[in-house]
Amino acid sequence: MVAKSYKNFIGGEWKASSGGETFENVNPANLKEVVGRFQQSTLKDVNEAVSAAASALPGWKKTPAPKRGEILFRVAEHLVKHKEALAQDMTREMGKVIKETRGDVQEAIDMGYFAAGEGRRLGGETVPSELTDKFCMSVRMPVGVIAAITPWNFPLAIPSWKLFPALIAGNTVVIKPASDTPLSVYHFMKVLEEAGLPPGVVNYVTGSGTGTGTPLLDHPKVDLVSFTGSTDTGSLVAQHCARQMKQYSLEMGGKNAILVMDDADLNLAVEGVVWGAFGTTGQRCTACSRVIVHKKILKKFTSLLVKRTKELKLGDGLDKKTDVGPLINGEQREKVNGYCKIGVDEGAQLLIGGGAHRAGGCSKGVFFKPTIFGDVAPKMRIAQEEIFGPVLSVISCRSLDHGIKIINDSAFGLSSSIYTQDVNRAFRAIEFLDTGITYINSSTIGAEIQLPFGGTKGTGNGHREAGTAALETFTEWKSVYVDYSGKLQKAQIDD
Ligand code: NAP
Repeated sequence: MVAKSYKNFIGGEWKASSGGETFENVNPANLKEVVGRFQQSTLKDVNEAVSAAASALPGWKKTPAPKRGEILFRVAEHLVKHKEALAQDMTREMGKVIKETRGDVQEAIDMGYFAAGEGRRLGGETVPSELTDKFCMSVRMPVGVIAAITPWNFPLAIPSWKLFPALIAGNTVVIKPASDTPLSVYHFMKVLEEAGLPPGVVNYVTGSGTGTGTPLLDHPKVDLVSFTGSTDTGSLVAQHCARQMKQYSLEMGGKNAILVMDDADLNLAVEGVVWGAFGTTGQRCTACSRVIVHKKILKKFTSLLVKRTKELKLGDGLDKKTDVGPLINGEQREKVNGYCKIGVDEGAQLLIGGGAHRAGGCSKGVFFKPTIFGDVAPKMRIAQEEIFGPVLSVISCRSLDHGIKIINDSAFGLSSSIYTQDVNRAFRAIEFLDTGITYINSSTIGAEIQLPFGGTKGTGNGHREAGTAALETFTEWKSVYVDYSGKLQKAQIDD
């Protein structure tokens, strides 16, 4: 069967790339299945998309925020209507199991409703003036044209974290999705069109990081780049934006950890660690890749963990019985395999997994066995570097403070968790774990959209997505002083 071709969405029209080139999107559970053909967009296409966003900006900015909210509410309603179809296609292009792709779409729905409500808030401040007959307030203004560059692991949720808050605040957008998952964002564009978003307010160009992404972030009419992806690419984004003194928000890698104390409910902790480490095949920025276990329970916990991991069923994510889908592509499998070799060379003990999985129905895809290393020292590369696959390091600790120290000894700071029955230990962990997100008696994954999402250190550059925090990224503050005294009053000078 010939795969369908999908076009760019620019200024409300569906357009082929000016260069006439396309690329294939394949199913990682079956590399022979081409999910679709997408446009290899050129500089000319990017210029056209940015011009469309710039032209649409004045009209969208002038649209009252509650009206913008009504459109976004309709977008969320359409996402509800198409949820199952979107989830199925997402599993085909990205591989994660259908329960999780439904969750990915649901996250976009939640974000849509949340942002729609913000249309009637978008609050600023009113504060007293130091002078009489003078009024002081601050209001939120849109930043302008936003370039959104997104990764493949949350093909719809992450684009929605950027688009909904950017749009409610009155910005217009050009989005370039990851080349491994352009179909989910294509569907998002269709839904925006169906819901009546005016032409040019959101534009979509597909293509490679360097061929399409770089010209987009370098475009002088782009006012802010909102990027989610690897720390290496994020660093490039920062360098490019700095040259033009352009704003940028970065959400990057993680090396997340769960601390299991000697008083923890061990079965609950095992479930949380297995879900955090092997859910989404370990390809979440918040995936648990280190578990720090109190030495008193290390043996028992590790044996329960390995036993539970053996039960996981690998396969096509569309099969309801599958627990763990494939990795995203062959390159990623090479990388994960390479880290397993590094782990063995470093002297860690391979307890389970450690290589590609080709048995059963998995021979056509890029599957990898859920892998656990024991006897891992905190400084080993497998305990320090982001692997982005189903590989978990078990590290022993002597105490709560020792465990926290191990977790904080990381270049990243996204998500952490502690399993304990002791409220004092839980609150110490909340205070001292240096991460943007901390869970108590729950895994490192499962953020809800009404709270800020993001991390410290190498994970981000101080911005947060989701919640009302996202508005800080997508708005500029304007402070307004209204003097109704009828005379020249001088702040800081007149008594
Ligand atoms: P990636 O390779 O950095 O790619 C991310 C996006 O950047 C893709 O759209 C990519 O396009 C584009 N890109 C690549 N090189 C570029 C360049 N030179 N200029 C402009 N754009 C460029 O990351 P990924 O492999 O897709 O995603 C996995 C990473 O994302 C992991 O490190 C994970 O931790 C991180 N992540 C972080 C969060 C968070 O919120 N902190 C959430 C999810 C994922 P192509 O696809 O065409 O290469």
